[in-house]
Amino acid sequence: MTTRTETHEFKTEVKQLLNLIINSLYSNKEIFLRELISNASDAIDKLRFKAQTEEGILGNDTEFSIRIELDKIKNTLTVTDNGIGMTYDEVLENIGTIAKSGTGAFLEAMAQLNKDNTLTPELIGQFGVGFYSSFIVAEKVTLLTRAAGADKAVRWESQGDGKFTITEAEKDSRGTIITLELKKKEEGEPDFTDEWTIRDIIKQHSDFVAYPILMDVEKDEPIPDKEQLKDKDGKPIGETTRKVLKTETLNSMKAIWSRNKKDIDDKEYEEFYRHISHDWQPPLEKLHLKLEGTTEYSALLYIPSQAPFDLFSPAFKHGVQLYCKRIFIMDDCKELMPEYLRFVKGVVDAPDLNLNISREILQQDRLVRNIRHNLAKKILDLLKNMDPEKYEKFWEEFGAVLKIGVHTDSDNKDKIADLLRYKTTKSDGKWQSLKDYVAGMQPDQKEIYYITGENLSALIHSPLLEQLKSKDYEVLLMTDPVDEWVTQTLTEYDGKPLKSAEKGDLDLEKVDEDKKGQYETLFKHIRTQLQDTIKEVRPSTRLTDSVACLSGNTYDMSGYMEKILKASGQKTPENKRVLELNMAHPVMEKIHAMFEKDKNDAQLNDYIHLLVDLAVIGEGGKVDDPSRFSKLVGNLMAEA
Ligand code: ADP
Repeated sequence: MTTRTETHEFKTEVKQLLNLIINSLYSNKEIFLRELISNASDAIDKLRFKAQTEEGILGNDTEFSIRIELDKIKNTLTVTDNGIGMTYDEVLENIGTIAKSGTGAFLEAMAQLNKDNTLTPELIGQFGVGFYSSFIVAEKVTLLTRAAGADKAVRWESQGDGKFTITEAEKDSRGTIITLELKKKEEGEPDFTDEWTIRDIIKQHSDFVAYPILMDVEKDEPIPDKEQLKDKDGKPIGETTRKVLKTETLNSMKAIWSRNKKDIDDKEYEEFYRHISHDWQPPLEKLHLKLEGTTEYSALLYIPSQAPFDLFSPAFKHGVQLYCKRIFIMDDCKELMPEYLRFVKGVVDAPDLNLNISREILQQDRLVRNIRHNLAKKILDLLKNMDPEKYEKFWEEFGAVLKIGVHTDSDNKDKIADLLRYKTTKSDGKWQSLKDYVAGMQPDQKEIYYITGENLSALIHSPLLEQLKSKDYEVLLMTDPVDEWVTQTLTEYDGKPLKSAEKGDLDLEKVDEDKKGQYETLFKHIRTQLQDTIKEVRPSTRLTDSVACLSGNTYDMSGYMEKILKASGQKTPENKRVLELNMAHPVMEKIHAMFEKDKNDAQLNDYIHLLVDLAVIGEGGKVDDPSRFSKLVGNLMAEA
């Protein structure tokens, strides 16, 4: 049988990334070890999770550990684990590509890189480049791995120069061995073959890893009396101690969440966050809880300071790990955190959990449901009590996700409503809460006004808001597609109804009944001319300066909603809009006069279409027939 050996090129983006990592992280070289240990620990976690349903997969190899070996002579460092290992295809897929990123997202982020091409820690965290950090210190990396349950192993080798080889190989047992052939140490740099250097790094970065990190270290051992060389008086003439190798555990393995808050410093909290999140930026906020009573659990949760680029991808992994009495049960435990808090990362340890629980029944488990309920409340309280500046930062990153809760979590709807922030016609680009909005309402104002649309500056200048602005009423500017759903559910706040500035009658000014009578036949005529697109032509209650705008009836779909649905490829029901005309505008007088003179005037018909075009442009939309529009405006200018 021939063995499969292949040489591959790294994907282009990996090459770029490798260069960046090597050039940017030279002052933080030691982090490579934390990354490798983290991967080893994850690999053991994965295996244990699998072993819950696949009996026998562990075989006799049930003592989990991560082993470090140093060789001063060969100048190598080796990290070995007996975790889940990888198959040939998994190695190809995981190592040599950027694990969690789409090429597009990565390249986009690359484009944002500082000009000097340094890789910021945020970026590294986002792309999970853990393994590649080996090349900061190694000139060659060899990975030998055997997947649990497989009999063949795989060897992956690379000098970080753009190529790697992958070949079938032999290995006695399951798991992964990563050997780094270290670069020559330069003056003043740490020596990664030195026991104490390694001890220090592990104490600092990996102390709480849940599996023992073992290393054989030299110890002095007394030489037994009868083995010692002695002179004729019985005095020892040679060494009285000798060096022996002893295996030592370098980490305390203490589950940080089960420790007392007052004994944990910020640095430890941050290290643990890095370990579980693979995010290199410190978290924005943390929550460490111990609950006793009927629902007993402890939790250590974090809110990241930056949204991961794949937060909205369907494959996004939730960041909560489930433990039972410090034993890892599962990663990515969606059942513990509502969808709208999916950015929360951390650990939940529930000692009363049924250990044989499967993912499917987890959701129905009462204890799990109670924990989720409880945690959601705690996180919402944490957000509420956050320092305002910090909260704003949070909102910028995660507001769009949190908002979903208004629609999906009826129990906490009010709490979430308090956490909403919007820019408004009066807030000067700043975020404002609904509470502040209500406090600033005009004495005669009964409703909370909002408008939805894609573009903030188009919204702020929308003709639909002219009357509202003339009354000095503030309007919430909603530019997030999710807001369309928020406003469907959140119909009032603090007893004040939410009202779309685009839909239904605004009831702000009395319509001039005389004029309405005069214009009635003209409006009917316009409606007939536009019957394919417009369902009603009406005197406007919204406009003061502009001549025309498009609106809808109270229960109509908003223009933005229609756009969103269309963009997502969904069939939308026919949604004809209402054309509102400003009877006080001089243009209407002109048009009225033309109509009185000759309702079949070709120019009148052009003007009618222009009215719609003006309304469309006023809301930042695109006119149906741009060439007709420009021709008509051109003619008008020539006449003027
Ligand atoms: P990340 O750990 O952030 O996903 P890495 O580049 O460090 O990124 O690793 C890529 C993938 O390779 C991991 O997600 C994992 O699937 C796999 N991997 C890395 N190290 C190991 C290991 N020691 N055992 C098993 N799989 C591993």
